[in-house]
Amino acid sequence: MVQIEVDESLCKGCGMCADVCPTGVLEKQENFEPTKVVNPDDCIQCLSCLEICPAYAVIHKELIPVRRLQIETSTLDMIKKIL
Ligand code: SF4
Ligand code: SF4
Repeated sequence: MVQIEVDESLCKGCGMCADVCPTGVLEKQENFEPTKVVNPDDCIQCLSCLEICPAYAVIHKELIPVRRLQIETSTLDMIKKIL
């Protein structure tokens, strides 16, 4: 199972990852404190948080390589259509 972590040394506390997470894994904190992982078992590996984080602060450990490949491939396809 994937393990989600937020690198507190990088996180800006913007909360965009928490806003985009469909299953409430992440929780925005007050005063731009680093976002917390509150429901790690509910992660569905959509990687929306990874894509939206401007600080590259969300870490997905044990992510199935094929899942990452699926997401990167679809992103590349999207870029090709735009170009
Ligand atoms: S999107 Fe990135 S920088 Fe913003 S709160 Fe989430 S982990 Fe932190
Ligand atoms: S990968 Fe998707 S489900 Fe998992 S924490 Fe990020 S946004 Fe939430």
